[in-house]
Amino acid sequence: ISDKFSGIMRTFAGKSKITEKNIQDAVEEIKVALLDADVNLRVVRRFINGTMEEALGEKVLKAVDPGQQFVKIVYDRMVALLGDEENQKLLLKGPDTTTVILMMGLQGSGKTTTSAKLAARLKREGRRPLLVAADLVRPAAILQLQVLGESVGVPVFTLEGEKDPSKVAKAALSQARKDQRDILIVDTSGRMHLDQTLMDEIQKVRDAIKPDETLFVADSMTGQNAVAIAQEFEQKVGISGVILSKFDSDTRGGAALSLRSVVGKPIKFIGVGEKMDDIEPFYPERIASRILGMGDIVSLVEKAQSAIDEKDALRMQEKMAKNTFDLQDYLDQLNNMDKMGSMEQLLEMIPGAKGQISEDDIDKAEIRREKAIILSMTYAERANYHIMGPTRRKRVAAGSGTTVSDVNRLLKKFEKMRLTMKKFAKNKKYQAAMLKQMGM
Ligand code: GDP
Ligand code: MG
Repeated sequence: ISDKFSGIMRTFAGKSKITEKNIQDAVEEIKVALLDADVNLRVVRRFINGTMEEALGEKVLKAVDPGQQFVKIVYDRMVALLGDEENQKLLLKGPDTTTVILMMGLQGSGKTTTSAKLAARLKREGRRPLLVAADLVRPAAILQLQVLGESVGVPVFTLEGEKDPSKVAKAALSQARKDQRDILIVDTSGRMHLDQTLMDEIQKVRDAIKPDETLFVADSMTGQNAVAIAQEFEQKVGISGVILSKFDSDTRGGAALSLRSVVGKPIKFIGVGEKMDDIEPFYPERIASRILGMGDIVSLVEKAQSAIDEKDALRMQEKMAKNTFDLQDYLDQLNNMDKMGSMEQLLEMIPGAKGQISEDDIDKAEIRREKAIILSMTYAERANYHIMGPTRRKRVAAGSGTTVSDVNRLLKKFEKMRLTMKKFAKNKKYQAAMLKQMGM
């Protein structure tokens, strides 16, 4: 085992680091890919520069080159930027009140189709939506919504002869409340281009019904242009979420990235066809892959990363068995939390350790404090916490902005952790199980 182990140790020690120079080609390729996906030029620049800043100096994994690793970093960052877990769902009130959803966007962006798709989806979820035909500009618009509404079995509210969409919307809201309809979806008119009349009209509708969701529908094929339009709607009306229609076209979907980084609103759904169930929740990973179009490089790096994780875990196992796991190792673990799964997971692999180390010991709220404490310790202290007398503890507390009792708590916990590790990691049966688990 130990021969194998030292080999692994050598591999694990990353040699090269990411520099501006060794990712130059990759940066160019990514720029081209993003522009090709129709991401706004300014967004591309800002995004790439930000990512470079973050990536420079990072250790390069074994088995991939710096450029490949950079692609993965770009991908991760894109996923993070595109997603907004908390706000990605529709903000719906309970079924005993009426949630108001206002749809807006340019003509042809897909508002009417999307309104009906949403209604169908919500109906399937057990809701009782009411669609409102408040596009009074195009003569055929009301009929279009009525046809779609009928096809999905959702009633459509219209007000014959009324020319003011805000009045239609208001009347519809009263009707919805009377009929105990819990969701009102208001389809409005769009123009070919932004103009004041359109904005005035939508503002008036908004003020009349005070929507809970103001959804901006954007044609994902309009790419860059979508950004300027969205900004205008955000300023004049306020956007709570975005729906990108026509994602089934051959667009790579750069509009998603542009919209997220410029307007910052969550993308809630994508439209993927003309049929009524062609609407899907927005999945950042999928869209990021599509925009970047370098899926094979991303998965290559992911593979390399998980290999490292295993080696890292194995190295820790070895340290535990030899009882040389020190505070520096613990700090490394804390820093690695995201990459290799939490300490909790590591401890769960140790039979019997689970109950010995309580949930509180691995409370994430404490991690930051623990990191600060260890960082304030000297290397000698990290290697041997037994030398931490009262004076050292006081110094470390002051240096880390914590209290002596915080320091005491960490050391006590670490001691307990080491005891557990020692007890179980020395066990031969356990070691065999560990190695098997790691596929060795
Ligand atoms: P509105 O003017 O904003 O109300 O747009 P419409 O809802 O009338 O849609 C304009 C056109 O785009 C129609 O032909 C729709 O069928 C089509 N459309 C809307 N959403 C999608 C989509 O997600 N995919 C495809 N392929 N077509 C769509
Ligand atoms: Mg329409």
